[in-house]
Amino acid sequence: MKAIVAGAIVAGIMLSVFASAASHAAADEARGAGGAAGAREEEARRLSGMFVGRWRPESGPEGKVQTVRADGTGTNVDDSAFLWHFEGRQLVARRAANPGDGEARISIRFTKDARAYRLTLEHGHRQVVFHRLGNDGQPLAHPDPASAEYEPVPPPTPPRAAGVPGPRVGRLVVKLDATDAPGLRPWGEAVVRKMPEWYPRIVAALAVERTEPELVIDLVLRGGNVPPGETQGTKIMISAEWIGKHPDAHSIVAHEMVHVLARYDSAVPAWLAEGIADYVRFYVIDRGSPDAEFRLDLADYQNGYTPTAAMLDWLERQRPGVVLRLDAALREGTYVDGTFEQITGSKPEEAWKRFVESRR
Ligand SMILES: [Zn+2]
Repeated sequence: MKAIVAGAIVAGIMLSVFASAASHAAADEARGAGGAAGAREEEARRLSGMFVGRWRPESGPEGKVQTVRADGTGTNVDDSAFLWHFEGRQLVARRAANPGDGEARISIRFTKDARAYRLTLEHGHRQVVFHRLGNDGQPLAHPDPASAEYEPVPPPTPPRAAGVPGPRVGRLVVKLDATDAPGLRPWGEAVVRKMPEWYPRIVAALAVERTEPELVIDLVLRGGNVPPGETQGTKIMISAEWIGKHPDAHSIVAHEMVHVLARYDSAVPAWLAEGIADYVRFYVIDRGSPDAEFRLDLADYQNGYTPTAAMLDWLERQRPGVVLRLDAALREGTYVDGTFEQITGSKPEEAWKRFVESRR
């Protein structure tokens, strides 16, 4: 059930990203509250400084580079020119040749580790990852991932108080493909009816922002010897054989929806990514499901899935908002050793020990 970030992103996509009209963009959010204007300007300055440079798309034609200049101009990988500035944490870009096309508001994050310094741009469903290039034209690594020098200040992610409505989400469109297992079409259709109801609840449980007017998910019921559930980009694949053995376990699709929505970097700890997905499945969407049970004496937090989910639920009750904050750190690429303790108050192994004791 491991999430695989959509692989085949072509370099030319940035042109379409920058050219997209942003009629649905969160412009109201970007304007923000007046009191926070100083902090927002400071953030925009910081991010502008980090954005300037030469960036190579992670996947795409060799030798293609995006150049970003300090004067607010830039050149795309396809040599088209664009204009840019930041409003708070949001990158606002438009085509230089055709500014009348409208501006695109693009979410941006910087991630660095010992291997690479990455820039991720997200617009609607599209996500493009770039590597910063050094003066020698080679990808730049950061040997000191603990340094805060290049990290944007993460946005505050306070827990949503009880009774506060969750975020608005757009329309969810699910395309069911039961070609491999026509007999399971009714199972798929039952799940497709539930997914629009799950969607805003999953978004509210995590810190994801979904501003696109429409999210399209492909739900494929797959034949053959395949894992129970797998997600690639916005495509969720569930094993037909597994459904045959677990016909009531609709909520496996909620677990996979978390992967669609969270889209963590593949470098995040798998136990936590899978634990969060199962937390949402069993403690937000499908509370009380017998499928959430596990052998406490055999399990460990590092198993991910149901044991980790149960520990997260236990932590969440003591300190509401921890799952949302962990999700935010994983997605922002700011999760490092120590982040778990900083957010939950305990190291994972200590939290697990106390959780097990609480169950005895
Ligand atoms: Zn999974």
